[in-house]
Amino acid sequence: MQWQNVIWVISVIMAVAIFAPDVYHAEQASEMEVHFIDVDQGDSILIQTPSGKNILIDGGPPKAGKKVTAFLEKQDVKKLDLMIATHPDIDHIGGLLEVMKSVDVERIMDTGKIHSTRTYARYISQIMKRQIPIEIAERNDFLQVDPLLQARILNTDNSSKSNNESSIVLKLTFGKIDFLLMSDVKKKQEKELIEKHNLNSEIVKVAHHGSRTSTSLDFLKKVSPNAAILTYGKKNRFGHPVDRVMKNLQKVGTAIYPTAAFGDITVRTDGKGFVIYHEKNPLSSLKAS
Ligand SMILES: [Zn+2]
Repeated sequence: MQWQNVIWVISVIMAVAIFAPDVYHAEQASEMEVHFIDVDQGDSILIQTPSGKNILIDGGPPKAGKKVTAFLEKQDVKKLDLMIATHPDIDHIGGLLEVMKSVDVERIMDTGKIHSTRTYARYISQIMKRQIPIEIAERNDFLQVDPLLQARILNTDNSSKSNNESSIVLKLTFGKIDFLLMSDVKKKQEKELIEKHNLNSEIVKVAHHGSRTSTSLDFLKKVSPNAAILTYGKKNRFGHPVDRVMKNLQKVGTAIYPTAAFGDITVRTDGKGFVIYHEKNPLSSLKAS
């Protein structure tokens, strides 16, 4: 080897040695995406964790099943590491039947609250048929899915008479960014959570589709969100969201993202900051037709 070549080789090795740590860090830099899928009236949330695991929380109503599975396909999700049914109401578990038929589900977390509807019976029989392990959520437990993501169960109560009150509430923490996912709990649970936990979160999924049952001003002040996601259908028959909830959200100065106006909403975070992407331009619905 000529002297010039030796020098050239050494400088390449040194360059690799110098730049290698940066490459390493670039590969380590992980991101999380939380997708609030527009399922009309209902909830469906896909979490793509920093280590690349997939968690689906609820599947919307039965007619949204196809939409949810198409969304999973678009995100290249072939297997759910965890599927969570926050409570047994049709607008949360309905679409999960289609999901179980379309992708592999490693395990399910459920409240253990039993419901007497046909949809619930179908949901349970699909789980049995596919022999998917099911675990009952325990308050204050952490989801064991991704060591980079802390996900704590703040509420779950299968002894409650009300499905909504039994709902699984989760607080996700990735770095400095917190998500509070309220499912359909009521003001009573909000009050209990205020007493027991630090609720401060950058992003909140507002409880019960903006219904009058939930989202007190006291609660919102404790959460102090930068962004509030509301999940409801444009022409829903429940009057969701109610004025009081919208006014409370305005009072705490949060940005408001309803799926009815924005379509699918994605929050992407590196654990330091976050960016929100949405499918639809809400102003387009105001155009004269
Ligand atoms: Zn609901």
